[in-house]
Amino acid sequence: MSESPRVPDFKLSRNLVGVSTSATIAIHERAATLRAEGRRVFKLGLGQSPFPVPGPMVEALQRHAAEKDYLPTAGLPALRAAVAQYHSRKPGLRYTGDDVLISPGSKELLFLLQMALDGQVIMPTPAWVSYAPQARILGRRIRYIHTRPYDNWQLDPDELDRACTEHDGPFLLVLNDPSNPTGCSHAPERQRAIAAVARKHGVVVLSDEIYGELRFDGQHRSFATDWPEGTIIATGLSKWCGAGGWRLGAFTFPPALRSLLGAMEAAASETYTTTSAPIQHAGVTAFAGDTFAPWMDNYVRSSRAILGMLARESALRLRTAGIRVTEPQGAFYLFPDFEPHRARLAARGVHTAHELCERLLQDTGVMGLPGQAFARPSAELTVRLSLVDFDGAGALAEFASEPARLPDACGRVLEAIDATSVWACA
Ligand code: PLP
Repeated sequence: MSESPRVPDFKLSRNLVGVSTSATIAIHERAATLRAEGRRVFKLGLGQSPFPVPGPMVEALQRHAAEKDYLPTAGLPALRAAVAQYHSRKPGLRYTGDDVLISPGSKELLFLLQMALDGQVIMPTPAWVSYAPQARILGRRIRYIHTRPYDNWQLDPDELDRACTEHDGPFLLVLNDPSNPTGCSHAPERQRAIAAVARKHGVVVLSDEIYGELRFDGQHRSFATDWPEGTIIATGLSKWCGAGGWRLGAFTFPPALRSLLGAMEAAASETYTTTSAPIQHAGVTAFAGDTFAPWMDNYVRSSRAILGMLARESALRLRTAGIRVTEPQGAFYLFPDFEPHRARLAARGVHTAHELCERLLQDTGVMGLPGQAFARPSAELTVRLSLVDFDGAGALAEFASEPARLPDACGRVLEAIDATSVWACA
């Protein structure tokens, strides 16, 4: 008598039921499938830097390829010191290597932070796609505060004050500046007002500044400037060094939160152990110094200028087609709202941002992400477009000889924007 095969008996943890692959990762994989089928696809879905990793960093990685030993969990001391030095360039901020925690990508530290802290997470929306799913996996309570396009998508300090007054703390506020998905930044006076509320309620602020170097005007202002005692600054190599696949992130803590750093380090030691040794050695090259090395300065300035020109031109073209867009100040995203075309879209059977993205992809090959992936209200017709589907190396080369002109290499993004505009007006 043949035995019936034993079926493995398993049950998903309650917090993971209903959690699916990150919206950005899923769209990246979808683009690859469509391209393999021979479809023309504009990859405006995933937020990946179009620029190559700067040559001196690649050379540093090659030099350190043989580094094979496990490094300390908190990170290579030279890298921790370099990150501290990098943040200490900002007026009024002083850190040492002991304040820094290194990880395989800042996303991992965001997760560990939400795991380590008890209490509620306050999330202004639109919020980067992974903040809320991480909180949900960990069973954290989320308090959303919706921001508004006419207010440049900035957090309203009065609403923060209300949330902290009406609910029981302790609170973790997750701020992202410049923002993914809007590209918007808080004005200095707004930052000060938010910091005053955070101070009043003793709120721990995770200031995700991973796009800070990509503020088009080079004037990024860390939130830690106004609430140094309670702010953790997040950065990494993924966005301004074009090295998302290298997986290197860093959190920098104020002295008052040293025990939090210790708790996260302990959790890291029991999970990922440490970050890749060659990558950490190469990372020192990016952060070290009282100012950027000339090659890095040139790379970052050129990236900012190209992204700024491209964002302005793209926003203008969308607006010309009657689509609402707030002018971004940094990063490589636009967050248009198709509300003015609602009736026209409804006549074509498009009622939600999900349907909008699906139809836009089917009809034009342009990939975008619906605003709901960023915790926006379900009725809204907002979409995130990542302006990154272009040859970054070619754009840098063109920019070097003609800095006043948007490089022709960026043309593919404009083609996608035009296709989107024509589609919306059809
Ligand atoms: N924060 C924001 C706002 C992001 O857009 C991303 C990546 O898309 C991350 C954090 C995570 O970056 P990484 O884990 O590559 O450091």
